[in-house]
Amino acid sequence: MEKPLNSAIITDFKITTRMCVVCRGRFPQKDLYRFQEKDRKLVSYTKTGRSFYICTQCIKQERKRLVKILNGKFKIKQINIEELAKQ
Ligand SMILES: [Zn+2]
Repeated sequence: MEKPLNSAIITDFKITTRMCVVCRGRFPQKDLYRFQEKDRKLVSYTKTGRSFYICTQCIKQERKRLVKILNGKFKIKQINIEELAKQ
């Protein structure tokens, strides 16, 4: 007779996922970049304040489109290319 699955074991196998703010898809945290808005610019998360995630696919898309989406959500007007390259 099989034992019912232990909930603690299920938790161990569960991968922590976060939502990409651009495509709204869910991805493991390691496949996401973490950012925040500072002075209307997209910057790397500084461990303080509100942060959000963008997936590796969305980061690669056309910058103009990315800015448009981020502007609608966070009033971000500028994406610092160097900031993205650092990660
Ligand atoms: Zn995405």
